[in-house]
Amino acid sequence: MTDNPYNSMLHQFERAAKLLGYNESDYKTLKYPERELKVSVPVKMDDGRIEVFTGYRIQHSTTRGPCKGGIRYHPDVSGNEVKALAAWMTWKCSLVNLPYGGAKGGIRCDPTKLSERELKKLTRRYTAAILPLIGPEKDIPAPDINTNAEVMGWVMDTYSMFQGYTVPGVVTGKPLQIGGAAGRLEATGRGVQFVVERFLKKIGRDLKDVTVAIQGFGNVGSVTANLLYNCGAKIVAVSDISGGKFCSSGLDISDILKYTEESKDNIKNYRNPDAVDISNAELLELDVDLLIPAAQESQITKENVNRIKAKYIVEAANGPITFEADKILEERNVPVIPDILANSGGVIVSYFEWVQNIQFLLWDEEYTNDMLEKIITRSFEEIWRLSEEKGVSFRVAAYMIAVSRVVEAKKIRGIFP
Ligand code: GLU
Repeated sequence: MTDNPYNSMLHQFERAAKLLGYNESDYKTLKYPERELKVSVPVKMDDGRIEVFTGYRIQHSTTRGPCKGGIRYHPDVSGNEVKALAAWMTWKCSLVNLPYGGAKGGIRCDPTKLSERELKKLTRRYTAAILPLIGPEKDIPAPDINTNAEVMGWVMDTYSMFQGYTVPGVVTGKPLQIGGAAGRLEATGRGVQFVVERFLKKIGRDLKDVTVAIQGFGNVGSVTANLLYNCGAKIVAVSDISGGKFCSSGLDISDILKYTEESKDNIKNYRNPDAVDISNAELLELDVDLLIPAAQESQITKENVNRIKAKYIVEAANGPITFEADKILEERNVPVIPDILANSGGVIVSYFEWVQNIQFLLWDEEYTNDMLEKIITRSFEEIWRLSEEKGVSFRVAAYMIAVSRVVEAKKIRGIFP
């Protein structure tokens, strides 16, 4: 059983359901996704070859509202992974009390090997293939690993062409010019920042005295690194898929960002006399105060968990710690701020974008950021309180809140027919 992310998800959720005193019949349906769609996505490549990619859109739950969740482009995408990610969206949306269920989509592909034309064709054909499932009142995709605002714009346009009119609310994380929300791009990282600040305040530590290692330098990792750096945190290590850099006196994050943005190159090729090379595995095992995994799932497993030296972990990625590794960290009393809270800033601001789209309203960025802080902080406080009251980890407390909302909604709705 292990490193299967769906099994990790099931363990987390069933543990909370049992602690809440539910019978299996109260939550049994939530062990299964409501709908799974697997599609073949043919693309005529630039060299004339036909390539057929495999795509998914999986809806875990619609109990509390339309489905919500990103679309991932990655060579590791599989049905099992998308299924787990879809369920995590259900718990995340419930935890921060958004009126959504959870879904996820993905295409098994290596986007670094595709031209922009191929990427656009892939996205449009995939959108056409999942068309029966998506819509502003049904299921609303968003960016995830290797997808961005531009890709969301293609999804929105393709969907709109089939409808015969413009439907901005079918997807979030769009470019600002076509209904995107100011602040959405930075939202996940900003949410991580709010959670880190709140947590450190609770335990009486100052961000400026804390050493931080961040795994992953995509949208979430890079924005988190930048925001924490600007608040004075000492970020001693960062990494991307190519490897990472370490500097015990702190890295110059603005310089690294400038390098990766301007050169479109990986962190590995960034040169600075103070920064030494480090692998992703080494980064995870550094002796730091705060470790922020911000890449993919199953990074901390039973294989490496005993070498993890960080005092606190904030999960900016989805599912970076397997269930077994999590149990060991819990026994060692290492506080872990769980993904469903820590990275919820993205979907919270996606919700704001959707609310604006379906009402044809426009909020300014300051208001968006204030509302994000309010929602994520409220959830943090709820988790903190429940964890103290019940003597359980932050993850268990978060799941107890999330699962109880979905199960109670399910009970009220009943099982059809
Ligand atoms: N992909 C992001 C996540 O995993 C955002 C989802 C959304 O905004 O719908 O939370």
